[in-house]
Amino acid sequence: MKIKHSLIVPCYNEEGNVEKFLEVTKKAMTGYTDDYEIIFVNDGSRDETPKKLRKIFNENKDVRIKVINFSRNFGKEAAMYAGFTEAVGEYVTIIDADLQQDPLYAVEMGRILDEDPDCDMVAAFQEKRKEGKFITACKTMFYKTINKVTEVDFISDASDFRTMRQSVVKTILSLPEYHRFSKGIFSWVGYNTKAIPYEVKERESGETKWNFTKLLKYALDGIIAYTDAPLKMPLYFGIAMGVLSVIFFSIGCIGALLAPVLMLYGFIAASVFFAGAIICVFLGIIGYYLGKIHTQVKDRPIFIAKEILTYDDKD
Ligand code: UDP
Ligand code: MG
Repeated sequence: MKIKHSLIVPCYNEEGNVEKFLEVTKKAMTGYTDDYEIIFVNDGSRDETPKKLRKIFNENKDVRIKVINFSRNFGKEAAMYAGFTEAVGEYVTIIDADLQQDPLYAVEMGRILDEDPDCDMVAAFQEKRKEGKFITACKTMFYKTINKVTEVDFISDASDFRTMRQSVVKTILSLPEYHRFSKGIFSWVGYNTKAIPYEVKERESGETKWNFTKLLKYALDGIIAYTDAPLKMPLYFGIAMGVLSVIFFSIGCIGALLAPVLMLYGFIAASVFFAGAIICVFLGIIGYYLGKIHTQVKDRPIFIAKEILTYDDKD
């Protein structure tokens, strides 16, 4: 059985949305393809979502529906990963259940992949953020920082709302790390990504699961997963403190010739900075090793070949 398009829908307390989501998606898919599947991942919802999903599953035999019920709430990252393991479509879309992301865009993304064989992934980015000024400013700062300190390029304002070819999904699944930060993974795996703007709608029902603290933790997780720069910081501090200790030592020496008070302060400051420098430099060295271990334990592939052209075996 060949499936053209899989839609992965992470759901956490979305009782008021899942039925409408199915209805809107069915409508959006009409005229595009019948060969699609919808994978609802119920991420340990505490409301009526599992019941609603069971009902949808039993009553909609005209659509290919899968439901994965988690034993508890594992988070959207885990839900997306679970969806990837089940998705068999030629194209795979991640889309939210709350209808903030119109399924029509998934069709648009599918069409782009149809038309452009060189494009592997289409990511939707929010042209206008419908959030408070403070959160928007924080998010802009986050993208600026993460793009500066990491080796991968993050598309500013790109969401998880995207469609990729099955080959990209296979690659993503080959990254076995536990602490997953998909925005980073999507960039790290490479491939040709096209960004298209989309307009975020108001949430159909329920409320967002994000607050400032959660976002901050998410941003820190992202930075930590993609760079070991913070681990190296003590080394630079140590070097700076070493330089300062030399300066204070020189001041102390000058003081020895000119003023005893200057000598006293100079030598005390020099010894404090010298001790600090030694501690920081060694912490930095440990940080370097830890950074290497951090990279190694993630067990990521050393390279990702998108295509290999090879000769036919003559025998
Ligand atoms: N979600 C999830 N697990 C969680 C939190 C969220 O599966 O622990 C799902 C949620 O049901 C929704 C999507 O992830 O389909 C995006 O969540 P939300 O709408 O709260 O985020 P926002 O749109 O406000 O960024
Ligand atoms: Mg939402």
